[in-house]
Amino acid sequence: MASHVVGYPRMGPKRELKFALESFWDGKSSAEELQKVAADLRSSIWKQMADAGIKHIPSNTFSYYDQVLDTTAMLGAVPPRYGWNGGEIGFDVYFSMARGNASLPAMEMTKWFDTNYHYIVPELGPDVKFSYASHKAVVEFKEAKALGVDTVPVLVGPVSYLLLSKPAKGVEKSFSLLSLIDKILPIYKEVVTELKAAGATWIQFDEPSLIWDLHAHQLQAFSHAYSELESSFAGLNVLVETYFADVPADAYKTLTSLKGVSGYGFDLVRGTQTLDLIKGGFPSGKYLFAGVVDGRNIWANDLASSLSTLKTLEGTVGKDKIVVSTSCSLLHTAVDLVNETKLDKEIKSWLAFAAQKVVEVNALAKALSGHKDEAFFSANAAAQASRKSSPRVTNEAVQKAAADLKKSDHRRATTVSARLEAQQKKLNLPILPTTTIGSFPQTLELRRVRREYKAKKISEEDYVNAIKEEINKVVKLQEELDIDVLVHGEPERNDMVEYFGEQLSGFAFTVNGWVQSYGSRCVKPPIIYGDVSRPKPMTVFWSSTAQSFTKRPMKGMLTGPVTILNWSFVRNDQPRFETCYQIALAIKDEVEDLEKAGITVIQIDEAALREGLPLRKSEQAFYLNWAVHSFRITNSGVQDTTQIHTHMCYSNFNDIIHSIIDMDADVITIENSRSDEKLLSVFREGVKYGAGIGPGVYDIHSPRIPSTEEIADRVNKMLAVLETNILWVNPDCGLKTRKYTEVKPALKNMVAAAKLLRTQL
Ligand code: GLN
Ligand code: ZN
Repeated sequence: MASHVVGYPRMGPKRELKFALESFWDGKSSAEELQKVAADLRSSIWKQMADAGIKHIPSNTFSYYDQVLDTTAMLGAVPPRYGWNGGEIGFDVYFSMARGNASLPAMEMTKWFDTNYHYIVPELGPDVKFSYASHKAVVEFKEAKALGVDTVPVLVGPVSYLLLSKPAKGVEKSFSLLSLIDKILPIYKEVVTELKAAGATWIQFDEPSLIWDLHAHQLQAFSHAYSELESSFAGLNVLVETYFADVPADAYKTLTSLKGVSGYGFDLVRGTQTLDLIKGGFPSGKYLFAGVVDGRNIWANDLASSLSTLKTLEGTVGKDKIVVSTSCSLLHTAVDLVNETKLDKEIKSWLAFAAQKVVEVNALAKALSGHKDEAFFSANAAAQASRKSSPRVTNEAVQKAAADLKKSDHRRATTVSARLEAQQKKLNLPILPTTTIGSFPQTLELRRVRREYKAKKISEEDYVNAIKEEINKVVKLQEELDIDVLVHGEPERNDMVEYFGEQLSGFAFTVNGWVQSYGSRCVKPPIIYGDVSRPKPMTVFWSSTAQSFTKRPMKGMLTGPVTILNWSFVRNDQPRFETCYQIALAIKDEVEDLEKAGITVIQIDEAALREGLPLRKSEQAFYLNWAVHSFRITNSGVQDTTQIHTHMCYSNFNDIIHSIIDMDADVITIENSRSDEKLLSVFREGVKYGAGIGPGVYDIHSPRIPSTEEIADRVNKMLAVLETNILWVNPDCGLKTRKYTEVKPALKNMVAAAKLLRTQL
């Protein structure tokens, strides 16, 4: 019985790739050194999967930055401004597109479906000249082969590639990205032909966009593309892989009728209805890649239950046609549980990271073919049982309080305009008030202090003093820059979710459970394993300390319940909304304690609200309803004069703007500069927005320093569609990944722009 893995994390068990990339970007190591680290990682991953017994091992799932950007490179679709003049695309052009350079911003980056992974959005227009400009897929296939591992090269499928792109600047709105399909297919053909010549027997095309609610003409593009490619498929097995949700019925029909395709991959963890579709009809003689091992979470698979699913499916598709697989690429889970030496033993027995999931896939495949590893299965059953009955999972009081929440709406008593008036009386801010999003640069020194405190190498007193000093420095800097509403800079936080999770009950932490977010950036999501509660205040000490350093308003800084939920590995034994309500109650207590401590502006970040939006339209209203409700719960008890801010990151908000308004925050700061002011078009189209709003005026993801004119220009564009008195001036997001040498001049220009505009209004 065959086994397959859709894709594997690239960073390495200890983030080796991250460190190699950053050292290369900083000019501290050579391209060869970076390539060596990357090659070692690839080889150990391939060997690990081969040793585990996996039959279909993926290649080309490694990336120096992002697999969509790799595809852009493969197709030679470099936007002209990056000055590429043909030839194989090298690090220079590649990383300029990814990260920007001294004179150019990076390309836009956006969330990969509903994950916390970000891809670089291809910019395509009618004049793009495609050419085969990166042979990475073939090179990696050959590299694995030379190591004795036969792999399945993975390509982002041509239709999903186009559907994930955006029209280049200046291209007419009516331009159809799918019209480019016939221009990119010849390159795909070349790649396929070359892979075949190199000895590939299977090729995997990732077409996750098939899980969207697509229009008939979009589905038609799949049929067209694969018919076109069919001639190059001769002598090859082709797998079309989908993931992250159910494939809708019409897409299922399209998919299973594609020409030249021999197998289809489905996410059977998130896609609960796909099973019925398969039972309703599956083309004979084709392979079913059954994604039963969850690539989005860290829970050990319930092997007995998966095995029974697989047996049912086997009855439908035939004995030799079922391939046990992961639900999606393991890119979205942590790398290896082996490195978790500090995790509680019982909790650890409930978990499986990428390396363990590979073993689960193989164990299931073997069991299906009658070679069940009884010891492995019974250990798994014991762990499942211990998780179900463990007292550390259940807290009756929390269960009850969260259940009661559903009965009421939780809204502040007055309207936002009345509240803003009351707040302005107290805060007395200038028009176009300036602020930042929360974090300031996290220097090596700061990281060292936190690390040493955690390792008990320095005393609590030394730690507190060091953090206080840092806060004081950040406060003084903001005063010097003449920013209006200050932040404490978040020096005590490693990560905006982890920091809260560490102080809440029901959360567990890993040492190396990193997941790639974008480029070299990784996050270490906490694991929510039990009912959530807040034993004691979490931020009050630091926020009031910071406030004591200045007369200006100091923002209390919290992470909202939806973001904590969406950026954690969540329980799979209760609905997401139940966990979210529990977190909302804990944050509500914190908000009220901050207010009592005299903090008058409190920001509750909901950076990840948009990304939790279910991919299928039919499920979106329900999610938005409980997500927005959870946010309102956190601040429904504060006074009118307490100003509640929220912040959201790089997303497309246009379709959820009414939910954002329904959050009823007093001020929202929002990403804007990397999505080409898509956001502003909502207001241009007439959506009424009465609360304060700060669309980011410059991109903090790039080292580039924006000029005063450029910022003023952006703000002017916003003034054209928004009332002067509701507009705030702020960067896109937190500054923690930047250096002070970038942050100081950028903020200086930002404040100068606000001041300049104030004189003109
Ligand atoms: N307050 C957080 C910070 O500034 C927000 C980060 C985010 O939105 N991702 O770091
Ligand atoms: Zn942000």
